[in-house]
Amino acid sequence: MKKTKDSQRFSFPDDEKKLPWLPLLLDAYEVIDKGIVDALKEHEKKQKAKLACQKGCDVCCRAQNDIPIYPLEMVGIYWYAIEKIGQLLRETLKKQLLSHTKGPQCPFLIEHACAVHPVRPAACRQFNVFNKPCAEGEDPYYTRRQDVLTPKRKYRDRAFFIMLPFYGITDDAARSSAIKSGQLDSQAKPMRICSWRHLAQRMDDFDTNQK
Ligand code: SF4
Ligand code: SF4
Repeated sequence: MKKTKDSQRFSFPDDEKKLPWLPLLLDAYEVIDKGIVDALKEHEKKQKAKLACQKGCDVCCRAQNDIPIYPLEMVGIYWYAIEKIGQLLRETLKKQLLSHTKGPQCPFLIEHACAVHPVRPAACRQFNVFNKPCAEGEDPYYTRRQDVLTPKRKYRDRAFFIMLPFYGITDDAARSSAIKSGQLDSQAKPMRICSWRHLAQRMDDFDTNQK
């Protein structure tokens, strides 16, 4: 499905001028992606292991039960799905959102690729597996933990630091303290239990207004 072999920041200049939360999200994802590149290099060197993840590999998008999503990430996915996804994927995505049954199959997976790739959640970005691709139905976190990348904490903390103003925490000291205490952790919920019907409806409303 993914992966992050480089850390280029996605950029939407006009939208970023209008939507104050968007640069926070994109800056934070850039930091997360940099952290992954850093951790991947270190893991590959130390463990002499080769990254198994590659384009089109999508077991993780169909078998993962534990992908958390934070409110700002949800806002990003709503925005991208409503305003950025083109006609080719749009109708398929709406159907998948409507029929999603709160299981591990991610509704954003279309033809072995992530339909919201630029704004996919940090947890998706951070999930990287070495040595061999995941077997059908496998969650390697439980079957072979040693093959799963451990992201570097300092990048996650920096990304949270950038995102915290969205949650009303703007002061530097308060942001540091919120990160230390894990204040944001309780805001995340597993993607698989989200009801996505509302997003499909919002996409429909947007399409109607465009006519
Ligand atoms: S190896 Fe596993 S985690 Fe990596 S892209 Fe393939 S299915 Fe996803
Ligand atoms: S949002 Fe869904 S399709 Fe996209 S990378 Fe994450 S699990 Fe895969």
